[in-house]
Amino acid sequence: MKDAIYKNIESKFQLTEEINRRIWDYAELGLQEHKSVELFSKLLEQEGFKVKKNIAGMPTAFEASFGNGKPIVGIMAEYDALPNLSQEAGSTTHIPVVENSSGHGCGHNSLGAASFGAALAVKDYMVDNNLNGTIKLFGCPSEEKDNGKTFMARDGYFDDLDAAFTWHPGDKNGTWGLSSLANVSVVFHFKGKTAHAAAAPHLGRSALDSAEIMSIGVNYLREHVIPEARIHYAYLDVGGNAPNVVQGTTSVHYYIRAPKVYQVLEIYERIKDIAKGAALICGTESSYELYTGLSDYMPNKVLTKVLHESMVEFGPPEFDENDFKLAREFFNTLSKGEQDNAKKYLVDNYSKERGESILEKPLHTEIAPFEILPIAVPGSTDVGDLSYVAPTAQLTMSTTALGTSPHTWQMTAQGNTSIALKGIKAAAGAMALASIKIMENPEIAKEAKEELIAKTGGKYTCPIPKDLKPKI
Ligand SMILES: [Zn+2]
Repeated sequence: MKDAIYKNIESKFQLTEEINRRIWDYAELGLQEHKSVELFSKLLEQEGFKVKKNIAGMPTAFEASFGNGKPIVGIMAEYDALPNLSQEAGSTTHIPVVENSSGHGCGHNSLGAASFGAALAVKDYMVDNNLNGTIKLFGCPSEEKDNGKTFMARDGYFDDLDAAFTWHPGDKNGTWGLSSLANVSVVFHFKGKTAHAAAAPHLGRSALDSAEIMSIGVNYLREHVIPEARIHYAYLDVGGNAPNVVQGTTSVHYYIRAPKVYQVLEIYERIKDIAKGAALICGTESSYELYTGLSDYMPNKVLTKVLHESMVEFGPPEFDENDFKLAREFFNTLSKGEQDNAKKYLVDNYSKERGESILEKPLHTEIAPFEILPIAVPGSTDVGDLSYVAPTAQLTMSTTALGTSPHTWQMTAQGNTSIALKGIKAAAGAMALASIKIMENPEIAKEAKEELIAKTGGKYTCPIPKDLKPKI
């Protein structure tokens, strides 16, 4: 099976490489990825996939499918860029291609490319072996800004998946055994009455007072929520800059994070009550506007194991001497903190000598051991919502020098080099192999589903309401 997948990945790698390079060039921001989606659809249709565009209220979301019936395996593609991260490909000096322009500083061009390559390899294997089942490639827009997958999960696009796989470019090879934080992003508005603050203060009702009292309320709340919760806020509008005018409007933006989405939603309800209370105290009106919400990521143990075995079987990226040399040059441009992170990883995981020799050629060439830990990384991802409705596993593969942080010009630069292409090939191979294993052994998918139901009781409460539309 491995040899067949290897052959399939190789035979279509020119298309995968084209996706990586052209999407890197387009560098389109979230929900504006029109050219990227055009390219995906054209190539997927040529390859015999049925492509449904404009799904879940997002013109740049798509679902491409091949085959019939169960099992249904979904692979996720992303392709959104980040503002102000334009950078020349492969250059170890910080030179934007276009000043102040967008760039693929999180490697989502490579993310989309490998997922595309994996879906094609699975399709070709299905054809060659008369295999029943369906392979779906989901085009998930705006991971960075609007959490495309959360809308797709809310609208039921992942409901029939027996297994879902995804990955992220990075500086190491391994499966993802940690969870991520759930969060909601919500803006509270207060409306009062302006008045001359000296001549007629009794006629005014201060919106700013309400927001300040809300902050006091929330700060008292902190003692009575779980210690892992994080609540942060920023004022968006303070009702003007004149002290002698009672402030008629105020808006304050809150993020509420916790390890589990139900914990976030509980705290969110209590904060809504505090806002109402603050308005009552001040005689103002309060309202709120939910911007986004994300569930925590739950790695499916059964599927993550299958993905890990597939990574080991297909093998890590096969870097050559030029790749090692370029990686060393990039490593030299990293901040001390980033270099120290890489060194700490080597100290924690390797002998002194091995660590030092890796540092000379700073690309990860091994696969980290399989582990699932009850720890949440202090960030959030829309893969979380996918993991609540379908058993999900993800991996990370080296596309950059050790120590490279996401959202940096170095990440943009390395995303369009031979280092990235080798990581892409290995990621595509592992995901394709894992997908075929599920299709040939549906009992694994059954076991993975049982694990999911044991965790959620089969229930998914999407943190965004039914009527919230993506902000196009
Ligand atoms: Zn990313």
